[in-house]
Amino acid sequence: MTVPPRPSPRPRRSGVGWWLAGCGCLAVTGALVLGLVVLGVVVTRLPSGDGGGTPPGSAQSPQAGSTAAPGVAEQLVLFEAERERFYALAAVLDGNPVKPLVTDFDAFQRLEKRAGQPNLGSFSAQTLVQQAARQRQQLQRRIAAAEKRRVNRSGSLTEGIVDRAGDGFIDIRWDAASACGASEREGWRTSGCITKGDSLTVHLLREREFGGDWDRRMIVVHELAHIYQRADRQRYDARRGRVDRLLAKGLFQGSEEKMADCYALTYYGEWSLTRGNLEIGYGYVCGRSERRALRKWAADVDAPMPG
Ligand SMILES: [Zn+2]
Repeated sequence: MTVPPRPSPRPRRSGVGWWLAGCGCLAVTGALVLGLVVLGVVVTRLPSGDGGGTPPGSAQSPQAGSTAAPGVAEQLVLFEAERERFYALAAVLDGNPVKPLVTDFDAFQRLEKRAGQPNLGSFSAQTLVQQAARQRQQLQRRIAAAEKRRVNRSGSLTEGIVDRAGDGFIDIRWDAASACGASEREGWRTSGCITKGDSLTVHLLREREFGGDWDRRMIVVHELAHIYQRADRQRYDARRGRVDRLLAKGLFQGSEEKMADCYALTYYGEWSLTRGNLEIGYGYVCGRSERRALRKWAADVDAPMPG
Protein backbone atom coordinates (compact mmCIF):
# COMPACT_ATOMS: atom_id res chain seq x y z
CA MET A 1 0.00 0.00 0.00
CA THR A 2 1.47 3.31 -0.99
CA VAL A 3 0.29 6.84 -0.66
CA PRO A 4 0.28 8.34 -4.14
CA PRO A 5 2.47 11.36 -4.87
CA ARG A 6 1.13 14.51 -3.38
CA PRO A 7 0.31 17.77 -5.03
CA SER A 8 2.90 20.36 -4.14
CA PRO A 9 1.62 23.03 -1.84
CA ARG A 10 3.67 26.06 -0.89
CA PRO A 11 7.17 25.50 0.44
CA ARG A 12 6.70 23.60 3.61
CA ARG A 13 7.94 24.72 6.92
CA SER A 14 8.24 23.19 10.29
CA GLY A 15 7.89 24.59 13.73
CA VAL A 16 5.15 26.73 15.03
CA GLY A 17 5.79 30.41 14.68
CA TRP A 18 3.71 32.82 16.63
CA TRP A 19 3.29 36.52 16.75
CA LEU A 20 3.85 37.93 20.13
CA ALA A 21 2.90 41.40 19.09
CA GLY A 22 1.14 43.02 16.22
CA CYS A 23 1.42 46.58 15.17
CA GLY A 24 -0.86 49.41 15.85
CA CYS A 25 -1.45 52.34 13.64
CA LEU A 26 -2.22 55.52 15.43
CA ALA A 27 -4.21 58.62 14.95
CA VAL A 28 -4.07 61.68 17.09
CA THR A 29 -6.54 62.72 19.66
CA GLY A 30 -7.80 66.15 18.90
CA ALA A 31 -4.93 67.43 16.87
CA LEU A 32 -5.71 65.36 13.82
CA VAL A 33 -2.31 63.86 13.48
CA LEU A 34 -2.37 60.19 12.72
CA GLY A 35 0.47 57.87 13.35
CA LEU A 36 1.40 54.40 14.21
CA VAL A 37 2.55 52.76 17.34
CA VAL A 38 5.62 50.66 17.10
CA LEU A 39 5.28 47.29 18.59
CA GLY A 40 7.97 44.77 18.03
CA VAL A 41 7.18 41.52 16.40
CA VAL A 42 8.78 38.46 17.81
CA VAL A 43 8.69 35.14 16.14
CA THR A 44 9.46 32.16 18.25
CA ARG A 45 9.96 28.65 17.15
CA LEU A 46 8.60 25.76 19.03
CA PRO A 47 9.63 22.20 18.50
CA SER A 48 7.19 20.57 16.15
CA GLY A 49 8.28 17.02 16.55
CA ASP A 50 8.15 16.32 12.86
CA GLY A 51 11.76 17.06 12.18
CA GLY A 52 11.03 19.19 9.18
CA GLY A 53 12.96 19.41 5.99
CA THR A 54 10.78 17.18 3.87
CA PRO A 55 10.06 18.84 0.57
CA PRO A 56 6.46 18.74 -0.55
CA GLY A 57 5.70 15.92 -2.87
CA SER A 58 8.23 13.55 -1.43
CA ALA A 59 5.84 11.10 0.05
CA GLN A 60 7.12 8.80 2.69
CA SER A 61 5.24 5.83 1.45
CA PRO A 62 4.67 2.88 3.67
CA GLN A 63 6.70 -0.08 2.61
CA ALA A 64 4.81 -2.29 0.26
CA GLY A 65 4.23 -5.63 1.86
CA SER A 66 5.28 -4.37 5.26
CA THR A 67 3.73 -5.55 8.45
CA ALA A 68 0.63 -3.45 8.11
CA ALA A 69 -1.98 -4.10 10.75
CA PRO A 70 -5.40 -5.32 9.64
CA GLY A 71 -7.52 -2.51 8.32
CA VAL A 72 -4.63 -0.12 7.82
CA ALA A 73 -4.76 -0.34 4.04
CA GLU A 74 -8.46 0.46 4.07
CA GLN A 75 -7.88 3.40 6.39
CA LEU A 76 -5.13 4.72 4.17
CA VAL A 77 -7.48 4.65 1.21
CA LEU A 78 -9.90 6.78 3.22
CA PHE A 79 -7.05 9.06 4.27
CA GLU A 80 -6.03 9.52 0.67
CA ALA A 81 -9.59 10.47 -0.25
CA GLU A 82 -9.60 13.10 2.51
CA ARG A 83 -6.23 14.37 1.35
CA GLU A 84 -7.45 14.80 -2.18
CA ARG A 85 -10.54 16.65 -1.01
CA PHE A 86 -8.40 18.90 1.20
CA TYR A 87 -6.08 19.93 -1.63
CA ALA A 88 -8.96 20.37 -4.05
CA LEU A 89 -10.53 22.78 -1.55
CA ALA A 90 -7.22 24.56 -0.97
CA ALA A 91 -6.95 25.17 -4.71
CA VAL A 92 -9.87 27.58 -4.35
CA LEU A 93 -7.33 29.88 -2.72
CA ASP A 94 -4.77 29.75 -5.51
CA GLY A 95 -3.54 33.27 -6.14
CA ASN A 96 -5.00 34.53 -2.86
CA PRO A 97 -2.40 36.26 -0.63
CA VAL A 98 -3.82 34.70 2.53
CA LYS A 99 -3.78 31.13 1.26
CA PRO A 100 -0.94 30.11 3.61
CA LEU A 101 -2.84 31.49 6.61
CA VAL A 102 -6.20 29.96 5.68
CA THR A 103 -5.15 26.48 4.62
CA ASP A 104 -2.80 25.56 7.45
CA PHE A 105 -0.80 23.18 5.25
CA ASP A 106 1.60 22.56 8.12
CA ALA A 107 -0.97 20.72 10.15
CA PHE A 108 -2.10 18.64 7.21
CA GLN A 109 1.42 17.77 6.21
CA ARG A 110 2.08 16.47 9.67
CA LEU A 111 -0.79 14.03 9.15
CA GLU A 112 0.60 13.02 5.77
CA LYS A 113 3.93 12.33 7.31
CA ARG A 114 2.40 10.10 9.94
CA ALA A 115 0.30 8.31 7.34
CA GLY A 116 3.49 7.51 5.45
CA GLN A 117 5.22 5.81 8.34
CA PRO A 118 5.79 2.09 8.20
CA ASN A 119 4.15 -0.15 10.78
CA LEU A 120 1.23 2.16 11.20
CA GLY A 121 -1.32 0.58 13.49
CA SER A 122 -4.96 0.38 12.52
CA PHE A 123 -6.07 2.54 15.43
CA SER A 124 -3.53 5.24 14.51
CA ALA A 125 -4.62 5.03 10.90
CA GLN A 126 -8.23 5.49 11.91
CA THR A 127 -7.31 8.49 14.04
CA LEU A 128 -5.44 10.02 11.12
CA VAL A 129 -8.48 9.69 8.90
CA GLN A 130 -10.60 11.45 11.52
CA GLN A 131 -8.06 14.24 11.90
CA ALA A 132 -7.79 14.68 8.14
CA ALA A 133 -11.57 14.88 7.91
CA ARG A 134 -11.64 17.55 10.64
CA GLN A 135 -9.07 19.66 8.84
CA ARG A 136 -10.88 19.29 5.56
CA GLN A 137 -14.13 20.33 7.24
CA GLN A 138 -12.46 23.33 8.85
CA LEU A 139 -11.19 24.49 5.46
CA GLN A 140 -14.68 23.96 4.04
CA ARG A 141 -16.16 26.17 6.77
CA ARG A 142 -13.60 28.88 6.11
CA ILE A 143 -14.42 28.85 2.42
CA ALA A 144 -18.14 29.03 3.14
CA ALA A 145 -17.58 31.94 5.55
CA ALA A 146 -15.50 33.79 2.95
CA GLU A 147 -18.27 33.43 0.39
CA LYS A 148 -20.63 35.28 2.71
CA ARG A 149 -18.04 37.81 3.81
CA ARG A 150 -16.86 38.92 0.41
CA VAL A 151 -20.07 40.87 -0.04
CA ASN A 152 -19.47 44.38 1.28
CA ARG A 153 -22.25 44.31 3.85
CA SER A 154 -21.39 47.62 5.46
CA GLY A 155 -21.04 49.29 2.09
CA SER A 156 -18.00 51.09 3.51
CA LEU A 157 -14.82 52.11 1.74
CA THR A 158 -12.62 50.12 4.10
CA GLU A 159 -14.63 46.91 3.94
CA GLY A 160 -14.67 47.13 0.16
CA ILE A 161 -10.85 47.28 0.13
CA VAL A 162 -10.50 44.40 2.58
CA ASP A 163 -13.09 42.18 0.85
CA ARG A 164 -11.37 42.62 -2.49
CA ALA A 165 -7.88 42.11 -1.08
CA GLY A 166 -8.64 38.70 0.41
CA ASP A 167 -11.72 37.70 -1.60
CA GLY A 168 -13.65 37.45 1.67
CA PHE A 169 -10.99 35.49 3.59
CA ILE A 170 -9.97 38.62 5.51
CA ASP A 171 -12.39 40.05 8.04
CA ILE A 172 -12.69 43.66 9.18
CA ARG A 173 -13.91 45.08 12.47
CA TRP A 174 -14.13 48.74 13.42
CA ASP A 175 -13.04 48.13 16.98
CA ALA A 176 -9.48 49.41 17.08
CA ALA A 177 -10.27 51.47 20.16
CA SER A 178 -10.73 48.27 22.19
CA ALA A 179 -8.88 45.64 20.15
CA CYS A 180 -5.60 47.47 19.52
CA GLY A 181 -3.01 48.68 21.97
CA ALA A 182 -2.84 52.35 22.81
CA SER A 183 -0.20 54.49 21.19
CA GLU A 184 3.02 54.99 23.05
CA ARG A 185 3.46 58.38 21.40
CA GLU A 186 1.86 61.31 23.06
CA GLY A 187 -0.84 62.94 20.99
CA TRP A 188 -1.20 59.92 18.73
CA ARG A 189 -3.70 57.17 18.78
CA THR A 190 -3.96 53.76 17.24
CA SER A 191 -6.14 53.71 14.19
CA GLY A 192 -5.70 50.08 13.21
CA CYS A 193 -3.96 46.81 13.99
CA ILE A 194 -3.74 43.10 13.35
CA THR A 195 -3.77 41.26 16.65
CA LYS A 196 -1.31 38.56 17.61
CA GLY A 197 -3.92 35.83 17.81
CA ASP A 198 -5.77 36.45 14.55
CA SER A 199 -3.86 37.13 11.38
CA LEU A 200 -6.98 37.33 9.24
CA THR A 201 -8.81 40.27 10.79
CA VAL A 202 -8.14 43.97 10.26
CA HIS A 203 -9.14 46.10 13.23
CA LEU A 204 -9.78 49.76 12.43
CA LEU A 205 -11.26 52.79 14.09
CA ARG A 206 -14.78 53.57 12.99
CA GLU A 207 -14.79 55.23 9.61
CA ARG A 208 -16.02 58.55 10.97
CA GLU A 209 -13.03 58.71 13.30
CA PHE A 210 -10.64 59.09 10.38
CA GLY A 211 -9.82 62.41 8.80
CA GLY A 212 -11.15 61.35 5.42
CA ASP A 213 -10.86 58.82 2.65
CA TRP A 214 -7.14 59.43 2.19
CA ASP A 215 -6.15 58.17 5.64
CA ARG A 216 -8.87 55.47 5.61
CA ARG A 217 -7.34 54.04 2.45
CA MET A 218 -3.74 54.40 3.55
CA ILE A 219 -4.28 52.87 6.97
CA VAL A 220 -6.34 49.92 5.79
CA VAL A 221 -3.79 49.07 3.09
CA HIS A 222 -0.96 49.45 5.64
CA GLU A 223 -2.75 46.89 7.83
CA LEU A 224 -3.30 44.56 4.89
CA ALA A 225 0.44 44.69 4.25
CA HIS A 226 0.98 43.24 7.72
CA ILE A 227 -1.32 40.34 6.85
CA TYR A 228 0.70 39.66 3.70
CA GLN A 229 3.91 39.79 5.74
CA ARG A 230 2.50 37.10 8.02
CA ALA A 231 1.28 35.01 5.10
CA ASP A 232 4.76 35.27 3.57
CA ARG A 233 6.39 34.00 6.77
CA GLN A 234 3.83 31.24 7.13
CA ARG A 235 5.25 29.65 3.99
CA TYR A 236 8.71 29.01 5.38
CA ASP A 237 10.65 27.12 7.98
CA ALA A 238 11.14 29.10 11.16
CA ARG A 239 8.65 31.62 9.80
CA ARG A 240 11.35 33.58 8.07
CA GLY A 241 9.85 34.93 4.89
CA ARG A 242 11.01 37.01 1.97
CA VAL A 243 9.92 40.03 3.96
CA ASP A 244 12.71 39.27 6.40
CA ARG A 245 15.28 39.06 3.62
CA LEU A 246 14.28 42.51 2.38
CA LEU A 247 14.41 43.96 5.87
CA ALA A 248 17.78 42.32 6.53
CA LYS A 249 19.11 44.04 3.43
CA GLY A 250 18.20 47.35 5.03
CA LEU A 251 15.25 48.15 2.82
CA PHE A 252 12.52 50.20 4.47
CA GLN A 253 15.15 51.07 7.07
CA GLY A 254 14.82 47.49 8.30
CA SER A 255 11.35 48.16 9.67
CA GLU A 256 8.29 46.14 8.82
CA GLU A 257 6.16 49.12 9.82
CA LYS A 258 7.93 51.34 7.30
CA MET A 259 7.57 48.55 4.79
CA ALA A 260 3.81 48.52 5.44
CA ASP A 261 3.79 52.29 4.91
CA CYS A 262 5.74 51.76 1.69
CA TYR A 263 3.19 49.20 0.57
CA ALA A 264 0.39 51.75 1.03
CA LEU A 265 2.41 54.54 -0.62
CA THR A 266 3.26 52.34 -3.60
CA TYR A 267 -0.28 50.98 -3.82
CA TYR A 268 -1.69 54.49 -4.20
CA GLY A 269 1.28 56.10 -5.92
CA GLU A 270 1.64 58.51 -3.01
CA TRP A 271 4.83 60.32 -2.02
CA SER A 272 3.82 61.73 1.35
CA LEU A 273 2.57 60.52 4.68
CA THR A 274 1.00 63.86 5.46
CA ARG A 275 -1.99 65.55 3.98
CA GLY A 276 -3.24 68.84 5.30
CA ASN A 277 -2.96 68.58 9.06
CA LEU A 278 -3.06 64.79 9.02
CA GLU A 279 -0.01 62.67 9.47
CA ILE A 280 0.05 58.91 9.29
CA GLY A 281 2.64 56.20 9.48
CA TYR A 282 6.18 55.90 10.68
CA GLY A 283 7.79 58.95 9.17
CA TYR A 284 9.63 57.39 6.24
CA VAL A 285 8.65 57.76 2.58
CA CYS A 286 10.28 54.93 0.65
CA GLY A 287 12.15 55.59 -2.58
CA ARG A 288 11.89 54.17 -6.08
CA SER A 289 14.22 51.22 -5.64
CA GLU A 290 12.37 50.18 -2.48
CA ARG A 291 9.10 50.44 -4.38
CA ARG A 292 10.48 48.21 -7.09
CA ALA A 293 11.53 45.64 -4.49
CA LEU A 294 8.15 45.95 -2.84
CA ARG A 295 6.34 45.30 -6.12
CA LYS A 296 8.39 42.17 -6.67
CA TRP A 297 7.60 41.02 -3.17
CA ALA A 298 3.89 41.74 -3.67
CA ALA A 299 3.89 39.66 -6.84
CA ASP A 300 5.63 36.83 -5.01
CA VAL A 301 3.09 36.73 -2.18
CA ASP A 302 0.12 37.37 -4.53
CA ALA A 303 -0.64 40.66 -2.77
CA PRO A 304 -2.72 43.09 -4.80
CA MET A 305 -0.77 45.96 -6.30
CA PRO A 306 -2.17 48.24 -8.97
CA GLY A 307 0.10 48.51 -12.00
ZN1 LIG B 1 1.60 48.78 11.26
